Amino acid sequence: MAEKTILVVEDNDINRELMRVVLQRGEYRVLEAADAETGLDLARQERPDLILMDIQLPGMDGLSAAKILKSDPRMQHMPIFALTGFALESDRQKAADIGMEGYIVKPVSVKGLLDTLADWFRTHGPDQ
Ligand code: MN
Repeated sequence: MAEKTILVVEDNDINRELMRVVLQRGEYRVLEAADAETGLDLARQERPDLILMDIQLPGMDGLSAAKILKSDPRMQHMPIFALTGFALESDRQKAADIGMEGYIVKPVSVKGLLDTLADWFRTHGPDQ
């Protein structure tokens, strides 16, 4: 299987570093952005296989950034998983309404994250 590229958009440096370490352990190529604007640029340039999008970001929030990607015919196929705080049911509903493909609850567990991504790529791979 070809190496998958994952874009992490997360403003918290420690969380972002944790995600990078976990994803690299899962043998993913990792791109990182600390704000939505940089994330959108990277998404357009690099066409990652999946985006992990924090909802709460400085400036443009993750839901707004996802909305922009989902309304762009060149980008809307790109799966986006929301990174949400543990009890924010409203964020999950909004993410689903926008068309985001899933969500990951923070704090992120190593196994939970890697299992979720492996499941996604297994069921949405090019051979399916
Ligand atoms: Mn945040």
